[in-house]
Amino acid sequence: MKNSHQTELEQFMLQLRRQNPDEIHFHQAVEEVVESVLPWYLQHDEYRRARILERVTEPDRIVSFRITWETDAREVVVNRGWRVQFNHTLGPYKGGLRFHPAVNQSVLKFLAFEQIFKNSLTGLPMGGAKGGADFDPKGKSDREVMRFCQALMLELHRYIGEDVDIPAGDIGVGAREISYLFAQYMRMYNRWAGVITGKSLAYGGSAVRTQATGYGCVYFCENMLNHIGDSLSGKSIAISGSGNVAIYAAEKALQMGAKVITLSDSSGFVLIPDGLNEEQLKYVQVLKEERRGRISDFANTHKAVEFFESARPWSVPCDIAMPCATENELDLNDAQSLHKNGVFAICEGANMPLTADAARFFAEKEILHAPGKASNAGGVAVSGLEQSQNSLRISWSREEVDKRLQGIMADIHQQCIQYGAQQGQVNYVAGANIGGFKRVADTMLAYGIV
Ligand code: NDP
Repeated sequence: MKNSHQTELEQFMLQLRRQNPDEIHFHQAVEEVVESVLPWYLQHDEYRRARILERVTEPDRIVSFRITWETDAREVVVNRGWRVQFNHTLGPYKGGLRFHPAVNQSVLKFLAFEQIFKNSLTGLPMGGAKGGADFDPKGKSDREVMRFCQALMLELHRYIGEDVDIPAGDIGVGAREISYLFAQYMRMYNRWAGVITGKSLAYGGSAVRTQATGYGCVYFCENMLNHIGDSLSGKSIAISGSGNVAIYAAEKALQMGAKVITLSDSSGFVLIPDGLNEEQLKYVQVLKEERRGRISDFANTHKAVEFFESARPWSVPCDIAMPCATENELDLNDAQSLHKNGVFAICEGANMPLTADAARFFAEKEILHAPGKASNAGGVAVSGLEQSQNSLRISWSREEVDKRLQGIMADIHQQCIQYGAQQGQVNYVAGANIGGFKRVADTMLAYGIV
């Protein structure tokens, strides 16, 4: 027989699906949060009476706009851009921009929704947002990317501002794109404003912002292992992706004595049986960040590295899996294979990289599972620190920012324990969801009916 929580959850999700048809990523993200918070929510009638769940699952606003630009061959191209400003209860909207052909409203709504609770967990004053465009930077020249970014900012500028909404990077948006976007904003307003984070150190960026998501993910993982009397030292880690998050997760994992045995991109994965070394990591960094090449090139140029085309790294035996590429990149089959091969912890660098059934499987098997909204919050946390430095017109040292990042990740870990402790174990998914949700819900109550 169903218990009352299940019935409530089903009814809530039925209504949400009706109101947001076909937005499957958004449904998945909401269901995970509501499932976690419902037992606690139902014990506090004041939240229910104020309809906090209904309000927090409805974006404040979504803007979508046309982006028209010209290729080097003078062809006119039309893309679609969005900004989802989901909730600014805790501070100005904050969340990255993604450039990828698979971007659509459902993806951006799920990312913006997750961002509300992630930002809440950092303890910094930031609301949740996300944006981007269905633009594919692969194969485009620097000039084409520049023209696209300028055209996008011609629309986006209306909705952002240092006290309103502060975008940052995400998939397909790195240092190059941030510079083009920022410069366009500056020339339109004739003023320097901290309206974007992830800026280069030369013009107002923060130390450690580039590394923050990957480093933070590894710091969180170390906290999680320390809590059970273990550590990362000597552990084998399968990492997916070879972008910003994956590269700096790999770098910090090496520094902490772990063995990184895989990396990937959308064409396949590489196996490094002896573990990635520093020279190889540098090679991948230049390959991906400067040459914008494919991960297969790493195997082609290094004898001890093997490439598996169109495959994901989850069939490889490892102690820890760190998915750092994209959403739903690890399904139930992958989860079963990882479990069979002895994985004991999952630490998410990407946003919602597990399908719902894979997450459920790991929960049943009591495998440590750090959800992205906790473990990848280091990036937005250092973005928050970048905003503080911009407002104060100062720059903190690398050591100072790294120390603050470590402190924030330890604090998020503590919140997961506080809200996720269950029969002598920690349910990190529930802990992160309840901890993140509570701060937002309490503040919404305090604001009254708005
Ligand atoms: P990048 O664009 O730097 O790298 C993305 C990596 O993932 C690339 O290796 C890319 O391969 C791979 N990838 C992308 N889409 C797919 C796909 N459909 N299938 C297989 N591989 C894919 O992005 P980031 O490293 O910045 O972001 C990675 C994840 O981390 C995303 O989920 C993002 O939302 C999340 N995140 C990022 C933060 C940040 O600060 N950058 C902060 C918090 C979360 P290819 O090059 O072939 O496309």
